[in-house]
Amino acid sequence: LRAVDDEGEVRGYVPSMGQMFLRRFQLVTQFRQALEDGQVSVHYQPKVSLPNRTVLGVEALVRWTHPEFGKLHPDEFVPAIEAAGLIGALTSFVLDAALIRVRKWLDTGLRISAAVNLSVRSLTDDGFPALVASALDRHAVPPELLTFELTESGVMADPERALPILRELHTLGVVLAVDDFGTGYSSLAYLRQLPVDEVKIDKSFVFGMGTDLGDLAVVRSIVELGHSLGLSVVAEGVEEDIARDQLESMGCDVAQGYLISRPLSEKRLEAWLQARTARATGHNAASVLTL
Ligand code: C2E
Ligand code: MG
Ligand code: MG
Ligand code: MG
Repeated sequence: LRAVDDEGEVRGYVPSMGQMFLRRFQLVTQFRQALEDGQVSVHYQPKVSLPNRTVLGVEALVRWTHPEFGKLHPDEFVPAIEAAGLIGALTSFVLDAALIRVRKWLDTGLRISAAVNLSVRSLTDDGFPALVASALDRHAVPPELLTFELTESGVMADPERALPILRELHTLGVVLAVDDFGTGYSSLAYLRQLPVDEVKIDKSFVFGMGTDLGDLAVVRSIVELGHSLGLSVVAEGVEEDIARDQLESMGCDVAQGYLISRPLSEKRLEAWLQARTARATGHNAASVLTL
């Protein structure tokens, strides 16, 4: 079995069912050491505004280059790390990396925000808002340049505990986004009760919108629902011009996807941004234009 990763490379290792248990155990026991050894890194995927295509932010997406298993995507290890109670270490690592990155941009005159994915566990950790406040302080990053992406199922797992934590995060001034919208409970009433600023349309609908009228209708209604609730609407999984054009004509605010860029290592992201900053000078030196 072979698999291709998001930078188009062949991934080294896909386990058989029989190897899964052992592998999961290994990943969990090796994770802390892997963090220390520099095997875990953060890739960043740009989010651009529609219609003018300025880079507003990046989403931080964790990667693990395992000495035996090769380059692992989060879907392959985050659930195990979460179940083993180790997600706090992962979240802190990604949060620090993202805030360091945002601070570096600020120092060069760029205002680009970073979005960090939160697992359910963080939403049941009473100490989490204080940890975030101290990280923002330590890195001297204004809260509005940090976004947390949470899934509906994450919030719904334990709403009584999650809601006060979300309210505290919101009070800090960080941006809150509902990720993968449309795949979970997605009740309108429920979205109204959450202190969120942004809704991200799940990529499965965005993939289909060029050919499937049902998907197109779902995307259109999420854009309208989001706007009627005063939320910014982001589409993930934008792979084709036609999807971007349709989203733009619907008034969707932000696009993210392979059409704009795949998730990139920090080094490749810097080169990507630099090429576009150069193009943007003359209009506005402090913004980065794409496409
Ligand atoms: P997500 O937050 O919904 O992130 C978007 C996923 O879609 C990413 O997969 C990204 O690479 C992929 N993607 C973006 N644009 C396109 C596109 O145009 N086409 C296609 N085919 N895919 C696209 P990735 O990086 O494998 O991450 C998967 C999930 O793992 C994320 O879904 C998120 O839920 C979770 N995750 C990633 N990083 C972290 C983290 O630091 N902490 C936690 N708790 N979860 C994370
Ligand atoms: Mg996300
Ligand atoms: Mg998503
Ligand atoms: Mg997802």
